[in-house]
Amino acid sequence: MQNITIAIDGFSSCGKSTLAKALAHKLNYKYIDTGAMYRAVTLYAIRHQWIDTEKNINETALIQALSEIELGFVNNAETHHSDITLNGENVEQEIRLMPVSSVVSKVSTIKEVREKMVALQRQMGKRKGVVMDGRDIGTNVFPKAELKLFMTADPEVRARRRADEYSSKGQYFSLDDIKHNLQQRDQEDLNRKENPLIKADDAVVLDNSDLSREQQLEFVLKLVSDLQLIRREPPLH
Ligand code: C5P
Repeated sequence: MQNITIAIDGFSSCGKSTLAKALAHKLNYKYIDTGAMYRAVTLYAIRHQWIDTEKNINETALIQALSEIELGFVNNAETHHSDITLNGENVEQEIRLMPVSSVVSKVSTIKEVREKMVALQRQMGKRKGVVMDGRDIGTNVFPKAELKLFMTADPEVRARRRADEYSSKGQYFSLDDIKHNLQQRDQEDLNRKENPLIKADDAVVLDNSDLSREQQLEFVLKLVSDLQLIRREPPLH
């Protein structure tokens, strides 16, 4: 079967990365977590104290330093997933913490940051056989992706899922705080000028509020196989 590009976009904490990882594993494709890339840039800015307590960003300093930021992915032998590296350091755990989560959407509005991330993402996915998740994959990074999904879920369900994820790592936040963070990120992602979060016209909407992981995977694998069948049909003359 010919390799395709699968673009998954959607709201925060909808289970995009869980589905994307399972899909990539099943299809033997590469998985690229583009949110991790924006998070790693945010961590770099936090470490350089370019973001103050009011969430004001020293954009000039960050933009000037962009050429010094090297991102990569390495295989994690324990989880069998890929971890993100920032200038060679594995920062997979640190980028998931609240200090990064609370400002990443603001950093993601910076045009120069997005330009650098999008160029890297296009490079990483240029050979197809890739599942990429984010906010602008189907609309901007790979507008010609053969399969586009737009994921959504009930805000309560999303907040609870995120709370479970945090508590499994020994971090505890109130459901209200988590909900607030998700809402804020969604608003920033929907309303930014550069490549906002919007559903691509040809994206399939997947609301997974009441779907198990297995049901979601089955649903998308069916889409992939239907697509492969369509692509194999001889052209009509
Ligand atoms: O996917 P995740 O929640 O880890 O993404 C973190 C943030 O990175 C998002 O809230 C969004 O602001 C930003 N992002 C983006 N474009 C992408 C992926 C993520 O702006 N393609």
